[in-house]
Amino acid sequence: MRKLIFRFLLFTLFFQNINLIAQTDISGYFNNETSYQIVSCTLEGGVSSTCYEIKFASNPVDNGPYCPVDTNSIGGVGVYDGATNPGFQVMKKSLFQSMELDGYDIIRNNGTIRSKDLYGGGGGGSPSYAYCLENTADDALELTFLIPTTPFNPPNVNQMASVELVAISVDGVPMNSDPPSVVSNSGNIPAIDPCGGHMDPAGYYHWHFAPESINNVFSRYGISDVSCTKITQNVSALTGFAKDGYPIYASRDMDGSLATDLDECYGHTANTKEFGIAYHYHVSDILAPSMPPCIKGVSAESSFSVGALILPIDLISFEINNIENEKILLQWSTASELNNDFFTIERSEDGKVWEEILIINGAGDSHRKIDYLEYDNSPLEGTYYYRLKQTDFDDGFTYSDLRSVRVEKKITPILIYPQPATQDLFITNSNIQSITLIDYRGEIVFSQNLEKLDSDTTRVDVSHFGSGIYYLRIFDGDRYQTEKVIISNL
Ligand SMILES: [Zn+2]
Ligand SMILES: [Zn+2]
Repeated sequence: MRKLIFRFLLFTLFFQNINLIAQTDISGYFNNETSYQIVSCTLEGGVSSTCYEIKFASNPVDNGPYCPVDTNSIGGVGVYDGATNPGFQVMKKSLFQSMELDGYDIIRNNGTIRSKDLYGGGGGGSPSYAYCLENTADDALELTFLIPTTPFNPPNVNQMASVELVAISVDGVPMNSDPPSVVSNSGNIPAIDPCGGHMDPAGYYHWHFAPESINNVFSRYGISDVSCTKITQNVSALTGFAKDGYPIYASRDMDGSLATDLDECYGHTANTKEFGIAYHYHVSDILAPSMPPCIKGVSAESSFSVGALILPIDLISFEINNIENEKILLQWSTASELNNDFFTIERSEDGKVWEEILIINGAGDSHRKIDYLEYDNSPLEGTYYYRLKQTDFDDGFTYSDLRSVRVEKKITPILIYPQPATQDLFITNSNIQSITLIDYRGEIVFSQNLEKLDSDTTRVDVSHFGSGIYYLRIFDGDRYQTEKVIISNL
């Protein structure tokens, strides 16, 4: 018991000494998180604490290339642990020839490289062959990370297993420990892109290197065939946060120097640009793979989870209909809404320049189906495109697919009166060139061409027509329009 208390005091002392990023708003260092909050959590070992819960959409950065097509091509990089020429190297002919020498059949007779996609449990292939692994990306995933708000160091360091999550990058990309052994996986070699990452079989991109300093690793290994061009190189960059809550930097300190006092977890307490003097880790640019082999603090239980990405709105439909060239009916339905501030209806003649024509409030958060019905009461003549823009409370927005509608030229509004007509029927419209009165059987009972009139009003004597419903067909020189007329001569 005394020993336990002593240990607890030691923890507390240690913890207070290095507790330099406690309660820092680390969200300010992330790009593109979809949500961020502080939640109750349980740390490994059962301690109750608070954690940052940060969510990201999968695959936020450009990636690839991975497997080369054939022995004349160059792909990404790989870590080979076989007998012949092992180590970190480029995915090219020399690597595959070394694998062939070790008994892995990865080059087909025609010189192409066997490759396999493990996404969604796929892959197939034959156990007689070895494969370059390149998985499909699934951009519809949401990654959730839990990071203790206050780092807490247990007595022993936490050794990282192969592929274990070590950290979360500032881009929201998981940073994992060593990629899987090629030898233990029957010669199947995971391809890593030139910035040090690749797709998990679940479809999310993750890094095995700090992308900001990987070009230094390439020069250490004499690799000049590939380089990272998709992530800005900055050897002193804050690359992310380890899952115990300590910051993790690329290979160098803020003055550009390589630390000489790193502990077994590649960590030390030194000055940082973001947190002042603070304990932090580095990703090596001397070794490859280069992630810290251990972490000092405890991580949260379920520090990393993958689910389906929930978009702010789940749009079921967006339809538009021309109502007699008078107005455009706009209808859409959402199955659910999350954080939905408002909708904007936009209209365009060419699909490039858009004007906002309506703004409609969203439901905020809703889990039931909502139907929306609005009108464009001033449609323009010709073919126009419409789209629905959804804006959330964080000013993020998405667009629906385009819909098009053709609005025909309208005959200027006509007035027909009185109804029912007994003696005279008056028709008011300045553009009318002819009128035809048709009875309910479809027979023409009256027809007249009109001269250019001074008056807008035409008078038709209907006193000799029988009572009933008639149709008045009006021609404006361009098109016909038919209106119902009731005559009552009882
Ligand atoms: Zn991996
Ligand atoms: Zn440092």
